[in-house]
Amino acid sequence: MNKPVYMDYAATTFTKPEVLEEMIPYFTEFYGNPSSIYSISRETKKAIDKARMRVATALNADPQEIYFTGGGSEADNWAIKGIALANKNKGNHIITSKIEHHAVLHTCEYLEKNGFEVTYLDVDAEGFIRLEDLKAAIRPTTVLVTIMTANNEIGTIQPIKEIGEICKANKVFFHTDAVQAIGHIEMDVKDMNIDALSLSGHKIYGPKGIGVLYLRRGIKIHNLVHGGAQERNRRAGTENVAGIVGLGKAIELAMENMADEKARLTYLRDKLIKGLRGAVDYSKLNGPAGDRRLPGNVNMSFEFIEGESVLLMLDAKGICASSGSACTSGSLDPSHVLLAIGLPHEVAHGSLRLSMGASTTEEEVDYVIETVPAIIQRLRDMSPLYDSFINGKGKNFFDK
Ligand SMILES: *Cc1c(COP(=O)(O)O)cnc(C)c1O
Repeated sequence: MNKPVYMDYAATTFTKPEVLEEMIPYFTEFYGNPSSIYSISRETKKAIDKARMRVATALNADPQEIYFTGGGSEADNWAIKGIALANKNKGNHIITSKIEHHAVLHTCEYLEKNGFEVTYLDVDAEGFIRLEDLKAAIRPTTVLVTIMTANNEIGTIQPIKEIGEICKANKVFFHTDAVQAIGHIEMDVKDMNIDALSLSGHKIYGPKGIGVLYLRRGIKIHNLVHGGAQERNRRAGTENVAGIVGLGKAIELAMENMADEKARLTYLRDKLIKGLRGAVDYSKLNGPAGDRRLPGNVNMSFEFIEGESVLLMLDAKGICASSGSACTSGSLDPSHVLLAIGLPHEVAHGSLRLSMGASTTEEEVDYVIETVPAIIQRLRDMSPLYDSFINGKGKNFFDK
């Protein structure tokens, strides 16, 4: 392979040329501040309206329910802090899961330091919350449930419609981080009873630093960013017009391509899983197989090795991937998601995420299937852990 093989679409995506093309005039020609009244500003205002409509259409929401933010993390922070603070009179209890993105988990921890109580639901071995656990966790003081639609590490797709029904029946607000789901799963906020939803531009072939919070009409929320009257008085700051335009185009393309991409990526995913599992002993897929897994996501653990070492050796072979601890680089703790599905620390350390997307080819998948097992074997050959295992002194966690 002479080009790098990019298998880290869950971390970020390239911006599609069609997206960039629509954005450029909003840097060079239509740069007017949307709050001004002259005609070049009318163009920018119109462009924002069009993008808002495109996002609303993709979610089956109304355009007045769409707010642009500075990314997925801001949308998560805003939804959770804003709804919790604005509804404090109803109670101080929040329910989430142990496998949320840090934008959700750290926000909940912040609220815990400021008078709120948070229940972190366990997940099963495939990463699913149990609906009975959710029902049992709801108290009279519960104001918000925040559960992600699809997990960024292991690809688990939660039963969002069922969660929405439970929240509605108990009169509790329901927020979902759908950053990884958009473009892969049909999201219908009305049908799924979703009160608030976060998404991000750069995970769907749009630009970085732009996101959306969908907020159902009538829900009380405090502002996170105070200042001017932008976004109908709810999110201050001069609009990131080019970013908004790019996100609008990206989400429209994502909807057009969803069915074809789902079939294509599911095929590549299953080929990759089968190829790696078949070639590497003592390995296991993390997260579910089949329809309840994100189409482009593969996450596997390989015993007796370190994920970080695999990444370095993959990089030398031109393959970009991620391991279970890459998100918290600098920290030696393994991924909270892999620990939550029950992997022991040492096994969680030997994990690899390969996430595929728009430019992934079958040839690249074949190259990865050829390259990874040889790397694992080289690392195991150097591993004292593996050495004592094959000499009958250690024990294995997965089957051969
Ligand atoms: C990437 C990601 C985020 C953060 O989005 P940014 O736009 O990078 O801030 C939040 N949640 C999930 C599940 C993600 O994958």
